Amino acid sequence: MSGSLIPDFAKQLLAWFDLHGRHDLPWQHPRTPYRVWLSEIMLQQTQVTVVIPYFQRFIARFPTLTALAQADEDSVMRAWAGLGYYARARHMLRAAQQCVADHAAQLPCELTALMALPGIGRSTAGAILAQAWQQRAPILDGNVKRLLCRLHGIHTPPGNTATGQQLWQLSDAYLAQPPSDRLADYTQALMDFGATVCTRAQPACLRCPFQTCCVAKRDQLTASLPTPNRRKPIPERHAVALLAQHSDGQILLQRRPSRGIWAALWTLPQADTAEELQAWCDSHLSLSLTEATPLPPIAHTFSHYRLRLQLLHLHAPHRALPTHCQHSLRWVNAAQRAQLGLPAPIRLLLTSQC
Ligand code: SF4
Repeated sequence: MSGSLIPDFAKQLLAWFDLHGRHDLPWQHPRTPYRVWLSEIMLQQTQVTVVIPYFQRFIARFPTLTALAQADEDSVMRAWAGLGYYARARHMLRAAQQCVADHAAQLPCELTALMALPGIGRSTAGAILAQAWQQRAPILDGNVKRLLCRLHGIHTPPGNTATGQQLWQLSDAYLAQPPSDRLADYTQALMDFGATVCTRAQPACLRCPFQTCCVAKRDQLTASLPTPNRRKPIPERHAVALLAQHSDGQILLQRRPSRGIWAALWTLPQADTAEELQAWCDSHLSLSLTEATPLPPIAHTFSHYRLRLQLLHLHAPHRALPTHCQHSLRWVNAAQRAQLGLPAPIRLLLTSQC
């Protein structure tokens, strides 16, 4: 472990939380295991203010774990559409079904069983256990990593295996400090503090209760700690998409496969090249792309590559579809489109173009 623990860390953090923490988040009232779980999954990679309306809509649509387990994937993806990282939604659905099958329709309140569910890692499991059941379980999300690296002056990137272990040890060691009836607050306080005081850029050190013992503050290293993980450059990929529109206004949408990018969402038919797209049109639609008009391309960044999508707009003379594609191809009007799960950039494009 790097340096000794701050003796009254939890006491000061809780005092700060009582005055400045977030106490009115929708998943805190009531703080049921299902609501805590949903919020923790939505909050991965996403800020609280963005999550709140999505959480409220999702919980209104699927108010219980059983309701979620009984839902079809389409309606779950629709409720998630716009929040991004869609694997989270598919994992939640599978996990809910697993809970119904193996845990009497309840979320298990034990670390190993929680981590055996799709989409729940160690930190998410810890946050659920602490907030739903007041269990003494450590967390280590990005906010906590940043806070611990700065407090203890840890110079190696948090993504290093050894540094990760060191940070887990610190998080676990501090967890001995809060009283047993405040473990949910303590965990929420850790996340809130990192998100609002010890922020990535320009941390508010002058109103921080740890400013006299923080190594990064003492050594003027708040701008450089934590040391960034080394990132590989993100490659760019190109693809071509077909915006086929019939004279009645309907648009052709295709459902993506259940794995991979935009899995199970409805989007524009897409291929790697214009030639491949034409070949697909020949075999599925009997449409020629020679009359298609290029639209400005759209760009979208996924976690591991940047997609540049060239769009071809085609006025389709008919709406015929091959019978074997009825489940993966649909002509839809604007109202029907609103009921489907579409990737946010495609929904935005269609709203502006159609
Ligand atoms: Fe973070 Fe600054 Fe507080 Fe250190 S003093 S923990 S860098 S906010």
